[in-house]
Formats: sequence, C-alpha cells, structure tokens
Amino acid sequence: MINEELSHTFNGIADILELKNENPFRIRAYRKAAQIMEDLAEDVTGLIGTGKLKDVPGIGKDLYAKIEEYALTGKITVFEELKKEFPQGVLDILYIPGVGPKTAKLLFETQGIDSIEKLETAAGSGKLTGIKGIKDKTIANILKGIALKKSIQGRFPLGTALPIGEMIVNELKKVKGVSSIELAGSIRRRKETVGDIDILIISNEPELVMDRFAQVKDIERMLSRGPTRSSAILKNTHIQVDVRVVEKDSFGAALAYFTGSKAHNIKLREIAIKKGYKLNEYGVFDINNDRKVSGATEEDVYDALGLQFVPPEIREDQGEIELALEHRLPALIRQQDIRGDVHMHTVYSDGDSTVSQMAEYARSLGYAYIAITDHSQSLGIARGLDPMRLESQIKEIDAFNTTAAGIKVLKGMEVDILGDGRLDMDSALLDRLDIVIGSVHSGFKQSREQITGRMIKAMATGLVDCIGHPSGRLIGERDAYELDWDAVFDAARTYHVAMEINSYPLRLDLTDTMIKKAHSKGLKFMITTDSHDPKQMRYMSYGVSVARRGWLEEKDVVNTKNYTDLMKWLKGDR
Ligand SMILES: [Zn+2]
Ligand SMILES: [Zn+2]
Repeated sequence: MINEELSHTFNGIADILELKNENPFRIRAYRKAAQIMEDLAEDVTGLIGTGKLKDVPGIGKDLYAKIEEYALTGKITVFEELKKEFPQGVLDILYIPGVGPKTAKLLFETQGIDSIEKLETAAGSGKLTGIKGIKDKTIANILKGIALKKSIQGRFPLGTALPIGEMIVNELKKVKGVSSIELAGSIRRRKETVGDIDILIISNEPELVMDRFAQVKDIERMLSRGPTRSSAILKNTHIQVDVRVVEKDSFGAALAYFTGSKAHNIKLREIAIKKGYKLNEYGVFDINNDRKVSGATEEDVYDALGLQFVPPEIREDQGEIELALEHRLPALIRQQDIRGDVHMHTVYSDGDSTVSQMAEYARSLGYAYIAITDHSQSLGIARGLDPMRLESQIKEIDAFNTTAAGIKVLKGMEVDILGDGRLDMDSALLDRLDIVIGSVHSGFKQSREQITGRMIKAMATGLVDCIGHPSGRLIGERDAYELDWDAVFDAARTYHVAMEINSYPLRLDLTDTMIKKAHSKGLKFMITTDSHDPKQMRYMSYGVSVARRGWLEEKDVVNTKNYTDLMKWLKGDR
C-alpha cells in the first residue's frame, strides 16, 4: 500500500505547487512520480533495501530521498511544509470537480473563501458573479461539482475501497489462529460505491487479530478496540474499517447478515419465519425449541431456507430470491470466462506502452487476444490518430501477428462520435479494422435528443461494433450525459451493436441497472478495461463484477468467445 500512499502524496505535492503557480516542470515531475508509484508492481519498501529503486526510470536522486523518507517516517517534509501554506478548506476546494488550482487560488486570495461551505454559499447567492477571472459557466460548474461530491459523500468508489480491503484481509490472514477471513458488506456485493469496509474472521486467538489490526500501517486512528471487534479510520481516504471475529459455527450466518443488502436479508428472514425458523447473525434456529439448524457456512444457511445459494453481487431483492426458491438463478459470468480485452490504448494515442508491450502483458494474463483501439484525431489532447498514423499502426499489428505466438492482436479504433453523429475516420479505413468502438468524448452538454441522435446515427453506419462507456459518467466527478436509453438500446438491437461495460474503476459504465435494462432488450456486451497501461488490464475484475450485478451470463458477453468465433461475430455473424 505504500506505493499508493506515495502516489497520493506526490500528487498532493503537485496540486499545491499548482496552487502556488510553481514551475510547470517541477509539477510534472511529481505527477510523473505519482504515476510511476502507481504502476510499480512491487512494494517500494522492498525495493529500497535492494537498491533496485534507483534503476526505475524517472526516479532521480531527489525523489529517491523522498521515497526513503516516507518509508522511514511515514511523512515527506516538503509536503507537510507545503500544506501549512494553505488552509485545509482551500485544498478541499481544489478537489471539487470542475474547480482546479487557478480558481481555488483566486477564490481564496480575492474572496477569502477557504472552505467548501463558504464556496457553496458564495456561488449559490450570486456573490461570485462578475468577479474578474470567474465566468458564469465556472460558477455553474462549481455548484454542480459540489452537488456531485455530496452525492457520494461518505461513500467511496469501489476502486478505492476494494484494494484497501483486500490489503487488510491479506495482512490479517497471516495472523496465527485465523482460519477464515472474508470481506462483507457492500464491498462484497461489489456496489460501485461503498460506505465502509467490513471484515469477518474465524480465529481461535481473536486477541492476536485485534493486535495486528491495530498495527496496520494505513490506520489513522482507532475508533474502538474490543476482544473480538475493532474499528478504525484509515489515512488519506478516511474510510472506516470494522473487523469482527465470530464463532466458527456462526460464520456463514454472520457473513450473510453483514453482506446484505438489507432488503435481501429482510426477505430471507420472512422466508425463515414461514418455515418455522428464526434467522439472525448467529444462525438459523428452530422457533419451537431454539435448536440451531445451520449457520456455519452461507451455503448451509441458504440451504436450510430451501434456497439456491445467491451470489453476493445480486443480493438486492430484485427477483433473485424468487428465482433461488425455484433453483433457477442465472449462472453469472466469471472472470475466467473472459478470453480477451478489446479496448485499450497505446503510445499511438494517449497510452504509455507499445502494441507489443500490451500484447505481452495480456498473454501473461492468459488472454487469447486483445484489440488495440486508439483514439481518433478529433481527440487532440489524446493525440488521436489520423488516417496515416492508423495505417502505420495497422502495419505494425500485422507484423506483430505474423511473428508473435500465443496471442492475437485485433486492429481496432475507439472512434469519436462527432457532435453531429458522424464518425471521426474514413469509412473505408474503419471497414478494414477488426473492431470499432464508437465513443462520445465531447459535447456532453448537448440536449438529450442530440446525444441520442448522435449515437443512433453512429450505429446506423454499420461500422460500429460496440458503444464505448455509453453513459459518459465518472463516479463522483462527472454526471452521465442525457440519453434516451430506450431509443439507444432499441437501435443497438436493430444494428446489432454491443454495449461496453468499461471496467475502469471510475467509469463502471454501463451501470448494473442499465445492463439489466439492455439485457432485457436482448443486447450483447463487451467487458473491457480501456487500459492506457498494461497493468490496468487487471481492472477487468471490476467490469466482471458489474456484469454479475447486471445478471449477465457468459453467453451475453462477446469477449468470452474464442478467437475464431469472435472474428465471425465481428464480421457480422451476430
Ligand atoms: Zn473513451
Ligand atoms: Zn478508450
């Protein structure tokens, strides 16, 4: 976890340097360092001892010293000093979507705005109107950004919480006496945002578990500590973690209880009562004599109630219990069903690795194929491809495929759906590609009719195989654009276009509920990672979780097909 903390800290330094209008090169160096920390597969602490860290490109003497300081003291002096130059509220404002360092600085220096509350009042009351350097549009964005931040207030994106939860589970797993350990709560149901992290444990030495938990490095402060239960708040994120050691013969019942959802559990208790049982976090009991019927495993609990085991991702009381009673639950898609990743970027556009680096990594994950789908030219900031550069990429991929064994690389593009619905690339060239993902990257503020019309027009070309990140939302940062989903899904059905489930943790787009809707209309899906770096391919598990929450099975997802069948599908056999 130290890698992520360092990444967080380096970005924090860059943010404050931006507030201070410092040298852009210095700022960029810290951003780069943050990225390096995030991408590093090994724990930095381990690398310091071996001297190998000095060999990592981009880590100069100066950064090395800071990393070492952090590893030793848990702090970087420069950062601590920089933080003192601004009130915490100003730094909070910096992280409101749509604000940024320039505006935060201006608001602080000219208006004395040093907290989100003050900013909201000022923006809402019209006090900011007419101030030099602040456009009306900025004020609207500020209010929207604050609302968005509040909408997930107290909740954390799954992509933030899950790695932390798994890290703590891995730490506690090693403690003597621990025989079972599971994440519970909404994190286990893989909800896109989670409130806190619940961990359940079986151990014959609970004290040792509580001791070890209190020593987890990421803990900022303990909220409570008991013989079998402790709570703590973590550094940086301020996520609350609850750890409980429960009795072995109650573990299943406790796991079901703490996994939820509430609505699902209420239904379970009703079923128990009908059967003459009582269900609680300790087990299933016979109501007449209080005899315990089951509770050791979740499977036992569901079984005692006459239900098929319900996977955590669909425990939302949306029809799963009725189907479980009839033992007719769908066989949800699993990570190992995915045969390849079909949305990713390389150095040709805004990715940071080459075609062959992406392919090598995909092969190490056991994939049979990948598709390279760089941006098209209208996306200037992402160095989108013009026809000539696309041609040269096609040549490179052809050459790769003739020499490399064990993996196939599909030629593709994530083509922009332009403001008027045209595609941002010659039709003839798109036609030569194996796969085309059509995405909206601009004009988010257009009307519902306009954006819907754009998408339908793009699909009607017959050149698009899949709509990329269909809603455009970024969790906690950007709302989905307005869309007539029925019309889009109906058109997708007509033109046989798949919907993407983008696994990038802040996207998770389509969402679980929209997947259900699209599925009910008979649509197919592609679960992709939109990787800009090989390691991001590991995000696939997030997309699979969303697909499971949307009740999808293997047959619903196009990239579960083998290479031959995939190519047939892409060539029009749909
Ligand atoms: Zn995109
Ligand atoms: Zn992309």
